[in-house]
Amino acid sequence: MASTTNDYAGLGFATRAFIDQSHSHFINGISCSSQGPSLAVLDPASGKPFSEIAAGAEEAVNSAVMAAHVAFNAKTWREIGPQGRERTLLRFAELIEAHADTLAEIETLDNGMPYWLARHMVIPGAVNVLRYMAGWPTKIAGQTVDIGAPMPNAQFFGYTTREPVGVVGAIVPWNMPLMMAIWKIAPALAAGCTLVLKPAEDASLTALYLARLASEAGIPPGVINVVTGRGAEAGEALVRHPLVSKITFTGSTRVGQHINRIATDSLKKVTLELGGKSPTLIFDDADLDKAILGAANSIFLNSGQICVAGSRLYVQRGVYDQVVEAVARHADSLVIGAGMEADTKLGPLINARQRDQVLNSVVQAREHGAVSLTQRKTLEIDGGFYVPPVVLAVANQGGALVQEEIFGPVLAVLPFTDEEEAVALANDSAYGLAATVWSRDIGRVHRVVPKIRCGKVSVNTEGFPYPALPEGGCKQSGFGRDLGPAGLEGYLETKSVLIQVV
Ligand code: NAP
Ligand code: MG
Repeated sequence: MASTTNDYAGLGFATRAFIDQSHSHFINGISCSSQGPSLAVLDPASGKPFSEIAAGAEEAVNSAVMAAHVAFNAKTWREIGPQGRERTLLRFAELIEAHADTLAEIETLDNGMPYWLARHMVIPGAVNVLRYMAGWPTKIAGQTVDIGAPMPNAQFFGYTTREPVGVVGAIVPWNMPLMMAIWKIAPALAAGCTLVLKPAEDASLTALYLARLASEAGIPPGVINVVTGRGAEAGEALVRHPLVSKITFTGSTRVGQHINRIATDSLKKVTLELGGKSPTLIFDDADLDKAILGAANSIFLNSGQICVAGSRLYVQRGVYDQVVEAVARHADSLVIGAGMEADTKLGPLINARQRDQVLNSVVQAREHGAVSLTQRKTLEIDGGFYVPPVVLAVANQGGALVQEEIFGPVLAVLPFTDEEEAVALANDSAYGLAATVWSRDIGRVHRVVPKIRCGKVSVNTEGFPYPALPEGGCKQSGFGRDLGPAGLEGYLETKSVLIQVV
């Protein structure tokens, strides 16, 4: 174990200055003065408050949506043109890079993730997404269309243009706060939309910091607005607002279903990136050292609080014992501690409720016959939201451990006999977000990949997101995509133009 408390004295000056403020919303290019109810910001390593955010509701959402609506109609953002948008987004990316140490410290304190994860994976990954999307404004284009000869003695010219959908409401979860914010902001702004972002109440600070950097980068007032507060209040007001044209949501399936129902009333466009229960398949011809490490990283990175986490591991019988034993020993070796500790590999979970739910799901699974292959059963730590990594061997697919998203460092393992059984097990899930296949047989890879029903399959690698490759799911994992051309598409609509020439 590393120390389970963060050392606040060691934080950078800018981080200290930021967290010592009492935060309010960011609307129309300025940080609002804090009035009204607030929410304590907890450090998951200690469970203690270290900052404060505003508990916004309908009034704040109205102001933010109005600012975004005015900015959209004023065309300040659209009319700086594609190259102007590209240059501004690139400046924004540069500023994020310049502030990366501070942003990483804030993300670590707020979410609990290890500093190295925030500083060296999350922030560079988000910057890459911003740079990728910055390349799109100059490439968004419609088509010319051959109208044919619909009428005698008349000629027509037809073409399409691509236009931004309007004001976007973006609602994101706490598990990867900064990355999720950029996954929404980057394509929305590249398309020429304006946006109101509602970060999760458990991790809103980096979104507020990003909004300030966006202003500094020259993104006009009203183009990016951030309203903090509870989902049922601020989030729901955003979904109901008549001036919002599109809702892009990342979060749980339950809340996604609710949002989709409400959004139907005003016929908003909706993108839903929801939960997952993603399978990892290890065949006996795989490079086992890489597969073992990959399977472990896939579930233990960010303490399992990753939508695409490989939470179901299926291993071919001939190598099953060897693989699950190695994954369990890897889990036991992971250093648990506060995010700011250099040695920490596994930080705390986001909050007490999440910790209790995850621990409870392990107890339940063991009561139903799951066998723990890992040594650490509980962690006696006052205050912090820590959970030990757990690998559980289960006898069949039926239980909650295999079927339900747990969103913690908990891995269910099962053997399989052949390709057919592996595919059937992988697909036996309500979710369809991601999957990973480990095999050196290229023929097998091409047979298995098309049969798995999900949004993304990674082969012989962990499923790290790449800006040009869309992310998202099918079945209960939602619809629509983030990232790549498909991610941009969700923020555009098509206008057809028909001109009579003769
Ligand atoms: P969540 O409870 O669904 O919350 C997500 C966001 O929705 C938060 O900002 C939340 O606000 C807000 N919200 C809650 N109720 C709402 C309502 N009635 N109306 C509008 N907004 C509402 O999810 P979470 O627990 O934060 O995050 C974990 C989940 O996210 C997991 O299921 C995970 O799989 C999923 N996820 C999916 C992806 C993907 O790409 N598919 C990526 C990451 C995470 P408050 O939290 O402030 O109340
Ligand atoms: Mg927090």
